[in-house]
Amino acid sequence: MDTLEGLADPIRRVGVRIEGVVQGVGFRPFVHASAQRFGLTGHVGNDTAGVVIEAEGPCEAVAGFLTSLRADAPPLATVEQVDVVELVPAGGRGFRIVDSDTSGPRGPRGPRGPRRTLVSADSATCEACLAELFDPRDRRYRYPFVNCTDCGPRYTIVRDVPYDRPNTTMAGFPLCGECAREYHDPADRRFHAQPVCCPDCGPRLRIVDPAGRSLGADPVSRAVELLRAGDVVAVKGLGGYHLATDARSDSATAALRSRKHREDKAFAVMVATLDDARRLCAVDDCAARALVDRRRPIVLLDRRHPDGVADAVAPGNRRLGVMLPYTPLHHLLLRELAVPIVLTSGNVSDEPIAYTDDDALARLGGIADAFLVHDRPIHVRADDSVVSPWRGDAVPVRRSRGYAPEPITCSREFPRPVLACGAELKNTVCLASGRRAVLSHHIGDLKNAETLRSFTEAIEHLSRLFDIEPAVVAHDLHPDYASTRYALERTGLDPVGVQHHHAHVAACLADNGVDGADGVGGADDRAIGVAFDGTGYGLDGTVWGGEFLLATCADFERVGHLATVPMPGGEAAVREPWRMAAAYLRGATDGVDGVDDLAVARRQGARWDQVRRLLDSRLSMPVTSSAGRLFDAVAAVLGVRDTVTYEGQAAIELEQRADVGHSDGYEVGIADDGGMLVVDGPGLVRAVLDDHRRGTDLALVAARFHNALAAAVARTCREIADRTGVRLVALSGGVFANRFLLTRTVEALEGDNLTVLTHSRVPCNDGGLSFGQAVVAGARDRAMR
Ligand SMILES: [Zn+2]
Ligand SMILES: [Zn+2]
Repeated sequence: MDTLEGLADPIRRVGVRIEGVVQGVGFRPFVHASAQRFGLTGHVGNDTAGVVIEAEGPCEAVAGFLTSLRADAPPLATVEQVDVVELVPAGGRGFRIVDSDTSGPRGPRGPRGPRRTLVSADSATCEACLAELFDPRDRRYRYPFVNCTDCGPRYTIVRDVPYDRPNTTMAGFPLCGECAREYHDPADRRFHAQPVCCPDCGPRLRIVDPAGRSLGADPVSRAVELLRAGDVVAVKGLGGYHLATDARSDSATAALRSRKHREDKAFAVMVATLDDARRLCAVDDCAARALVDRRRPIVLLDRRHPDGVADAVAPGNRRLGVMLPYTPLHHLLLRELAVPIVLTSGNVSDEPIAYTDDDALARLGGIADAFLVHDRPIHVRADDSVVSPWRGDAVPVRRSRGYAPEPITCSREFPRPVLACGAELKNTVCLASGRRAVLSHHIGDLKNAETLRSFTEAIEHLSRLFDIEPAVVAHDLHPDYASTRYALERTGLDPVGVQHHHAHVAACLADNGVDGADGVGGADDRAIGVAFDGTGYGLDGTVWGGEFLLATCADFERVGHLATVPMPGGEAAVREPWRMAAAYLRGATDGVDGVDDLAVARRQGARWDQVRRLLDSRLSMPVTSSAGRLFDAVAAVLGVRDTVTYEGQAAIELEQRADVGHSDGYEVGIADDGGMLVVDGPGLVRAVLDDHRRGTDLALVAARFHNALAAAVARTCREIADRTGVRLVALSGGVFANRFLLTRTVEALEGDNLTVLTHSRVPCNDGGLSFGQAVVAGARDRAMR
């Protein structure tokens, strides 16, 4: 009879290659610990493609080890692919971690290939580091740069790959003996944590006045004193400088607003704890999860009344952008201060956020009374991300710090690598290769020269970090966008022009994993895309922005839109919503019950008459089907806003004023113009005006307008569905950041048994446009093959 020994597991040796976010996230230590747990011998190392392992031991142990690679991976890791090859057992003792190899991938996959390793996003301080930060017996007690393999700076400090200390902005801080011991100890939480440091060897904090003179030896306590006294303090963060001040102080927040030349746009607030957030705002489960998420976005929350926050923080706003501390420095500041602070980007007006020390002192010198700074350089500028909780999802409004450069996995391969250059405002860029789309951090308004510089830097940096050499360059059709000009100037790449609203719809389809739709399979692949936004270059010489497209990811047909109206004064009509009120009411008659005795007409006086004459003349001017301009017109008619200081302001304020408890709306006409469905926007504005003149409460009129527009969208979609059999609807464009409109539209569409897709991974606004452009370019590439 066989003994148990005779049945012992045969020995097996495997070569393993792991790809994904597996460097700088404690993956090698994790592999090491796991190999030890299963009693295996071999080694683990990094190369430019990811992590490579050779492991040997009894079959069953090797199998358990392989399962644990995915199942037990460390919190910041994303395992995208595990390739295993069988090797000849070689014996040996122990399991080692070997040095990084920068020459290219080796091991199971053999020949050298492109870099496939991924740099992870920055991550909020973990619980273990936080405990050390506030433990008087710990050697990192109150040390503002404490971090480990589970947390800390990543993308914002990485200069190159592989992700090793010399390739980060920590290169100038040689490890002290104690930190080196932790760094080299496989059993330590800081094993191969590249930004590891301590008070003896790491970056130091200072507090200085705008002239660079020191303001004290204890920077955090000094900053707290200044904030308590109502001063504005510039604070160097993870991806750039913030401006901080006491959020409860009317004078401090008003001073910050006037010094920043920011007239109306709301400031974000940072509070110490989740409980503090609950004191200011209603926080449901979804919002709570978003607040404590390691990405630590700003979360848009419904305010409590009163919340104790000064009026100047978010004037007239029902919602407040709230975030929790995400660096050790924030934790130190907030715990000592124990009150909410405004924490807004360190810039003047619409400039990009300052991230280098010299630039911060130069540009913020006139705003901040003091600077809380340190000597760890920021390599990549990254603004705070913003999310809006909706139906249990934290929907991104701005996807930047904490998210970028985490790739978005698509359901179809990009046949050739794509660079997508995005739009003009809220710009992001996207590099796509394989099934991965890497969406950049928020770059901003490309009309600004410095932003344009960071646009090209971001393309070069991401292309290097992810080793994506694009063969195709996707761009908007607007010839005057800086991003379009850049794309067309790049030589050696195939340019692909993508219509703005088609890109929005494709972004929404791919956001939901239905980017397989490229028309190859016929009618079933199509979706009804509703793209509502401010401005986009149309195919017919008009400015689009209220569009119904029958679309695949590769192509589209325009099947409906909001009725076009003139834009008197062109671009001026974007800054001055009252002009759009005049345009929308141009068909209305003068005199008693006419439109020239309107409040908006009286407010504008002679200018109103001038624009009315311009509209009556035969002079040519741009015409638009933009939904953003429709909101502008209604906001002006209702006296909510005649002029704006930032994009989308009139629509945002109109939503704020609406009473969401009402569900009735106005009748909206939908005409069929030779097969093209045209939604009667002017009729809707007149209905709003009539209701308003009857003395109906503004909150009710605003609600009825939203409800009417949502119903009109749904009816138009149903008509398209009836004509084509297509029952999938994708909602995109910045106007759908309006939660009230989005909710009512989705309810109406679902009531008609249509399937509705909305955004959850990329913003519906132009911040998600580059992703959509990349998806379209990829789909066209596939269709051509
Ligand atoms: Zn940590
Ligand atoms: Zn140290």
